[in-house]
Amino acid sequence: MNEVSKIEFSGGCSDTPILKERGQREVFCGLTSIIWLHRKMQDAFFLVVGSRTCAHLLQSAAGVMIFAEPRFGTAILEEKDLAGMADAHEELDREVEKLLSRRPDIKQLFLVGSCPSEVIKLDLSRAAERLTKLYAPKVRVLNYSGSGIETTFTQGEDACLASMVPVLGETNDQQLLLVGALPDVVEDQLISILSNFGIENIKTLPATQKDKIPSVGANTRFILVQPFLGETADALEGHGVKRISAPFPFGDQGTTEWLRAIAMEFKVDEKLFNDVIRAPRARAQRAIEIAAARLKGKSVFFFPDSQLEIPLARFLVNECGMTAIEVGAPYVYKSIVGPDLALLPAGPVISEGQDVDLQLERCRKAKPDITVCGLGLANPLEGEGLSTKWAIELVFTPVHGYEQAGDLAALFARPIKRREALKL
Ligand code: SF4
Repeated sequence: MNEVSKIEFSGGCSDTPILKERGQREVFCGLTSIIWLHRKMQDAFFLVVGSRTCAHLLQSAAGVMIFAEPRFGTAILEEKDLAGMADAHEELDREVEKLLSRRPDIKQLFLVGSCPSEVIKLDLSRAAERLTKLYAPKVRVLNYSGSGIETTFTQGEDACLASMVPVLGETNDQQLLLVGALPDVVEDQLISILSNFGIENIKTLPATQKDKIPSVGANTRFILVQPFLGETADALEGHGVKRISAPFPFGDQGTTEWLRAIAMEFKVDEKLFNDVIRAPRARAQRAIEIAAARLKGKSVFFFPDSQLEIPLARFLVNECGMTAIEVGAPYVYKSIVGPDLALLPAGPVISEGQDVDLQLERCRKAKPDITVCGLGLANPLEGEGLSTKWAIELVFTPVHGYEQAGDLAALFARPIKRREALKL
């Protein structure tokens, strides 16, 4: 038996100097991630401790969710001076009491901090501890910050998952932990491939229910499914859990290398590995080829937004024949995106952080065929004649794994097609 062997990731953009910018930035806050997290964690409730602005953001970002009783809400704290803080804690306790007596289905409650100064002064970790004692063992109360001062929109998920790590149980079982919220169908596809490798004990964080939350220990290996989970990765490693480093599972190359890294760690036979991935991999390659026809030879410019930028640039360049002009990311943690950087051919500017005016100048000068950016920049750039792709769509759409690889390429091809149609 030949085990799957190790691949060293080096070269490409690994040593490209990173252009670091600090200035005004245009990104949604971490509260946004509640929209996908509440769908995934079916017995959790996200109580934002915030202002009317936060409530409006959630309502408009969630759009159509109001058909069922939602599993998130906002406790609005009105202006208070410091002397009013004791009242604020009492007010929060009252809100939680009302909520939990009305909703016995809630098993996990997240108190989510926000920007207003009166919320920042309120010690939510103390509140979470106090409420956990009060409602244990039925409900577990945790806290994290989704404030726009501290988090970009995908960091909300990172902060949420990181808040769960200190309270995970302990186990010595050998197991694989997939970290990051994925749509159920994508998660099932990846787990099915991994099970076919013979890996038996596969858990996910977050889990759908409180009683399915994994325990972890020295024999647990975890792998991230999203590149924006740096704080969660640090927390798990701090807990003694070993991380499997890999490119992220976008496109054929990313998915194959992500699976290979796991297979290597779990000593999977190379022939079995190749047999299991052959058919889905061939499907992915065919689907990408069709969708990428429109992308070949086109250029792309990424504004920093979701932290998915580096793995996506690697996919668009290597598998869709595009040229990356600039790949901007809010943060570049080489310990996390290092393998993707190594697979991205040298050439693009790699930038970290943002000074939006300077970056807009570079973008206008380069005139890319497609610009990936936040909603705030997309409309004006479209008005100036550039094709744009909203970065936030990439988080809301299933894009991971072999079966979604064609859809991922199609997401980028669509704005180009629209612009070409407008020109006719
Ligand atoms: Fe609330 Fe701050 Fe987000 Fe605005 S940026 S919605 S105030 S958390």
